[in-house]
Amino acid sequence: MTALKNFYAWLVIARSNLVARYGAAVILIFFVFLAACLVTGGIKTLLAGRHLKRSSPLKRYSPDPALASHAADSLSMAIQIPTVTGDKDGLEHFRRFLKERYPQVFGRLNLLSAAEGSIVLRWRGPRESKEEPLLFCGHMDVVPVGDDWDCDPFGGIIDDEGFIVGRGAIDCKNVVIGLMEAVDSLLAEGYAPTRDIYFAFGHDEEIGGPEGAAKISEFFQKRGLHFAAVVDEGGYIVEELFGRKRFPAAMIGVGEKGCTYFRLKATGRAGHSSMPPKHTAVGVLSEAICRLEAAPPRARLLDVVDVNMRLSAPAMRFIHRFTVCNLPLSQPLLYKVFGNIPTVNPMLRTTLAATQISGSQAPNILPGEATCVINARILQGDTPAGIKKYIESLLEDLPVEVETMLEIPASKIASTESPQYKKLCDVIEAKYPGLPCIPGIQSVTTDSRHYEPLCDNIYKFMPFVMDSALYDRMHNSRERIGVNCLGLGVEFYKALIQEL
Ligand SMILES: [Zn+2]
Repeated sequence: MTALKNFYAWLVIARSNLVARYGAAVILIFFVFLAACLVTGGIKTLLAGRHLKRSSPLKRYSPDPALASHAADSLSMAIQIPTVTGDKDGLEHFRRFLKERYPQVFGRLNLLSAAEGSIVLRWRGPRESKEEPLLFCGHMDVVPVGDDWDCDPFGGIIDDEGFIVGRGAIDCKNVVIGLMEAVDSLLAEGYAPTRDIYFAFGHDEEIGGPEGAAKISEFFQKRGLHFAAVVDEGGYIVEELFGRKRFPAAMIGVGEKGCTYFRLKATGRAGHSSMPPKHTAVGVLSEAICRLEAAPPRARLLDVVDVNMRLSAPAMRFIHRFTVCNLPLSQPLLYKVFGNIPTVNPMLRTTLAATQISGSQAPNILPGEATCVINARILQGDTPAGIKKYIESLLEDLPVEVETMLEIPASKIASTESPQYKKLCDVIEAKYPGLPCIPGIQSVTTDSRHYEPLCDNIYKFMPFVMDSALYDRMHNSRERIGVNCLGLGVEFYKALIQEL
């Protein structure tokens, strides 16, 4: 209400100033034009919102009970094997488990020695097939357990509510088990693929995949392979977009942001803290961090994000929808209103976040230097080097050095016009009629970026239905997935393997 009053007051003042300057007639025409624009924009916004009334909550169907229950048991066993990245014994145990659990899969598909510790399987199609092969990916390693678990993170229990609980349940043993169950079931049905299909399960995705996916990619490149499509973890089916139960959607990652770590090192006078200088190293470092937070890199609207926003518009609040429905005129307003939404802001700009920080070893010693790590998630169009320059320009008058610790550039963006994208959406439509497919850029990195030299159509999509509360458990305590949700995922993978 106050904002509206302020706006009205601003309007009155602006009007009288402008009348004094340009004359009443010109200003009248201007305000009539402005009102007409607002009314047209408002109507467009209301019309876009009508689509929400025509959509409906996600219609779930029931998976085959035997398939779902077998998959649930498999996932439960998979979770019981701790495979935190770097745990060689655990990962070895996990690979053995897969071979024992899916003898038919490992008997009929070729196990390729692409990268030690990872698993690569090839399901041969007919030799005369001219079609390019497909690649489905996942990873076997998991992040450490962290705090706040009220049960054994490697217990793999299936609780009374029908959830399989444990580390890896949604990242990413659900994908590995989902794919293995799908292949197992297809083999049992006598299905034979019409082209070669590869499965690649890395063992170090959580630390960037240097020994897993990177080596697998080299192996594929040496063999001269080129894939028609790569499907990896990433987007998923959301039950509600922007909190609207009537607007579920399939979120398909078509690109991922880069990830860079910069170390900021502030220097100052070391010594006893009883006689401090005006600005200590910690003070300078704090100033540097505040400057970065106050001046985030410039927002920009990528074509794919434009599509994402337009498709998501029906689920948005009126003001958000207004900015989307009236692009490109409303672009500055769009950056303003979405810049405050942590789930959307990363699609509009490179983000900077201070993560680790260090200073003095004792409470009464001034540190000679204080450091912190800035994690930059690089949006397509920016580069790690460009962002470093930007940070340096913000801090040039401070005694702060900027050093790059790790740089992963932003990925390419896969086409939403390719036949493979359309087929993926067709399978989604067949399984969940009416569900919109919304492409987007994801802020997290996955193994699939290593396959860029091998494929233009890399899609990051796992066919599991999740609400935000469930998704938030990724890398968190009480990570879990529903038995039915897993069963539906297996059935989806079966369809995708056959149709893609
Ligand atoms: Zn993952």
